[in-house]
Amino acid sequence: RRVPRPRQSEPHIKCFFPLVVYEPGPVQIVTVSKEDHSFSLDTEALERVLLAPEVRDKHVVVLSVAGAFRKGKSFILDFMLRYMYRKSESNWLGAEDEPLTGFSWRGGSEPETTGIQLWSEVFLVEKRDGTEVAVVLMDTQGAFDTQSTVKDCATIFALSTMTSSMQVHSSRPCLLLQTHRLLFTEYGRLAMDEIFLKPFQSLMFLIRDWSFPYEYSYGFKGGSDFLDKRLQVKEAQHEELQSVREHIHSCFTSISCFLLPHPGLKVATSPSFRGQLSDVAPEFKEGLLTLIPTLFKPDNLAEKEINGNKVTCRGLLEYFKAYIKIYQG
Ligand code: GDP
Ligand code: MG
Repeated sequence: RRVPRPRQSEPHIKCFFPLVVYEPGPVQIVTVSKEDHSFSLDTEALERVLLAPEVRDKHVVVLSVAGAFRKGKSFILDFMLRYMYRKSESNWLGAEDEPLTGFSWRGGSEPETTGIQLWSEVFLVEKRDGTEVAVVLMDTQGAFDTQSTVKDCATIFALSTMTSSMQVHSSRPCLLLQTHRLLFTEYGRLAMDEIFLKPFQSLMFLIRDWSFPYEYSYGFKGGSDFLDKRLQVKEAQHEELQSVREHIHSCFTSISCFLLPHPGLKVATSPSFRGQLSDVAPEFKEGLLTLIPTLFKPDNLAEKEINGNKVTCRGLLEYFKAYIKIYQG
C-alpha cells in the first residue's frame, strides 16, 4: 500500500507566524530623539535578544563600553566580538588584512544617533563551577556637541551603568575624573538613589592613547598604579573632587584600570582604514591580546546583581523597562 506523501505546502503558508531569521548584528534598543530629547526603549528588540530560549533563564553578565565620543568604543567592542566568536582559535585577533566588522565604528566627527545598542547574540560562557552565564555586549553612542546633548549622553551613561555589570569606561587620561563627575554624579545621582549601596559590580577605566609608558607602563599594572595615584584622597584636595573619588569607590565592587597605547596614525586618521590589523600599531595589538582575554576570563565575568541578587536575562528586561521610566520623567 502506498503511503500518501504529505503535500508540500507553499512557503508562505508553512507556518502561521513568519519565521524571521536575524543575522547577528547590533540592535538599537535605546534611542534619544534629537528633537525633544525624549528616550525610547525598543522593547521588542530587547526581547529578541534577552528572551532567546537558550539564554533567558541564565544569569546575565552585561559588558558595556561607555565614555568619550569617537575614541574607539565600537572599535574595541568589535575586537571583543572577535574574541567571543573565535576564542578557541590561536589567532583570534584575526588576519592582517581582514576588515573589522560588528558594531559600526568610523572616523570623522559628525554626530550620530545617541543611544544604546546590544549585540544580537548573547554568548554562553561556562564558569569554573560548571554553571553557564549569558554574556551581553553593550555599546553606547553619543556626542557632546551642544549643552542639551550633554544631558542626553549623561543619561545614556547612567542607563548603561545601571544595566551593566562590567562597565568599561573608555577615555583619555585627563578626562578620567571630569567625565565621571559630569556624567555620573550630576545627572546620574538621582537614579542612583533608587538603588542601594555598592549597586554596581565592576568598573574598568580603559585609558586610550596612553603615551607615557615610561611613567606608567601599558596594561593593568601601570593602570593600577596610575589609578591609585589619581584616586588617592588627599587632605588638601578640593572637597568636590574628594567626594567624586569616594563616590566611585562606594559604587563599585571592583575597580581597575588599563593603559592602552595609541593604535597608530592610520587608525586614527586614515579615511580608507577598514580595521585591518596590518595598519594597527603592534603595541596596541599586544594591548588587546592582554586586555580582552582577561576581561572575559570566566572567573572575571561579573554577573549582574541588583540589590544583592543575581539577575537573569529575563529579569534584566524588566529592569530596563523600569529604569527607562526614570528618565522618561
Ligand atoms: P566611538 O564613537 O567611541 O564608538 O568610536 P569609534 O569606534 O567609532 O572610532 C572612532 C575613530 O577612532 C575611528 O576612526 C577609529 O579608527 C579610531 N580609533 C579606534 N581606536 C582608537 C584609539 O584607541 N585611539 C584613537 N586615537 N583613535 C582610535
Ligand atoms: Mg561607536
